[in-house]
Amino acid sequence: MKNLALHWKILIGMLLGVAFALLMVQFSWGSDFIKDWIKPFGKMFINALKLIAVPLILASLIKGVSDLKDISKLSKMGGKTIATYIVTTVFAVSIGLVVVNVIKPGKSISEETRAELLENYKEDASKSKEAALKQKDSGPLQALQDLIPDNIISAAGNNRNMLQIIVFAVFFGIGLILIPADKSKPVKDFFDGFNEVILKLIDLIMLAAPVGVFALLATLVAESPSLDLFQALLWYAFSVVLGLAIMIGFYVLIVKIFTKKSPSFFFKGISPAQLLAFSTSSSAATLPVTMERVEEHLGVEEEVASFVLPIGATINMDGTSLYQAVAAVFIAQTFGMDLSLGAQLGIIVTATLASIGSAAVPGAGMVMLVIVLGQAGIPEAGLALIFAIDRPLDMCRTTVNVTGDAAVSMIIANSFGKLREPIVKNWDDNYPKK
Ligand code: ASP
Repeated sequence: MKNLALHWKILIGMLLGVAFALLMVQFSWGSDFIKDWIKPFGKMFINALKLIAVPLILASLIKGVSDLKDISKLSKMGGKTIATYIVTTVFAVSIGLVVVNVIKPGKSISEETRAELLENYKEDASKSKEAALKQKDSGPLQALQDLIPDNIISAAGNNRNMLQIIVFAVFFGIGLILIPADKSKPVKDFFDGFNEVILKLIDLIMLAAPVGVFALLATLVAESPSLDLFQALLWYAFSVVLGLAIMIGFYVLIVKIFTKKSPSFFFKGISPAQLLAFSTSSSAATLPVTMERVEEHLGVEEEVASFVLPIGATINMDGTSLYQAVAAVFIAQTFGMDLSLGAQLGIIVTATLASIGSAAVPGAGMVMLVIVLGQAGIPEAGLALIFAIDRPLDMCRTTVNVTGDAAVSMIIANSFGKLREPIVKNWDDNYPKK
């Protein structure tokens, strides 16, 4: 067991969690036991990951930016990163649209199922709508305004404000570049050491990953809604998962084309982060592990990883945008609406923006879906149709979100000559085999 690679340990933890919950439910020992005695361990694990996310972004981004040594390099990298992220997101939405138009999952939903779903999840749907409208009600420049924090402590205190932390760290890093070297050196050395400590803490937290994911999955299974409705939504779920699988294939392909790295190299490096994304449904909670894996196992130099990945976790959500496209068209289909080509092109724009605006936390993509529905004139009440199955799909789309960030970071690193052989510094040294 000790020599087993990390991803196997996590996978075993996940499977045992599911099996345990199924047994408990089967024998009606029930969800109370899981709620009282298992759930807290999952929560503790996620909290520990989130705890580490803000200091990690701060330390590694400040160090990363100041290591770039000149501002034009920084803006070049920034431009390239954001452009690549937008291209992959638009591609993801398009894949989603093709899949949902070919499979037409909405056509298979009967009148009765539709009515039952709408009734069952009416309240949840209207809560999501409220949350989305709050975001939408702000002026056109609100998103831009929100980039600048007025207080770094409160920005750091709210994990949703990751963009503000990124802005602060980049700003601080620029300041460091601009002051004389004798003054900047101690500050850089401090953040360098700080960063090492944080990376070590991630290793320690990951020792608990198998137990953490066990608890997370056991809780999920024990709390999941009835399987009947689940079945009715099978074709819809299949469409989302198929689209997501195509995206994973796409990442492997572009990594191979641009960096010449093999699929097995990529998956071996990133799989613990993927499994964690699947278990937590949160790109933000997974970020510390994504960064560690990408730097140490995929060979992306820190100055690129520390810049590209936090931005990616916040704005690059290919899985989410693909899901939003499929969900929007699925809802339209169940209501018997035929979306014109123009409306579908509109979905490409709104799903891209809505995924950028989604927070990297569980369920955020569904909240932002309201905006996509609103723009395309699809009834927002339709949100209730997809509630029953949102969590498992959230797990899958978060996995794709994280994989997309990792793939793009390799491509960007390669284009700046910053992709090297992996150096595994920490305890999980299963790769590369020496
Ligand atoms: N849970 C996703 C993430 O953190 C966002 C979403 O709900 O789609 O990446």
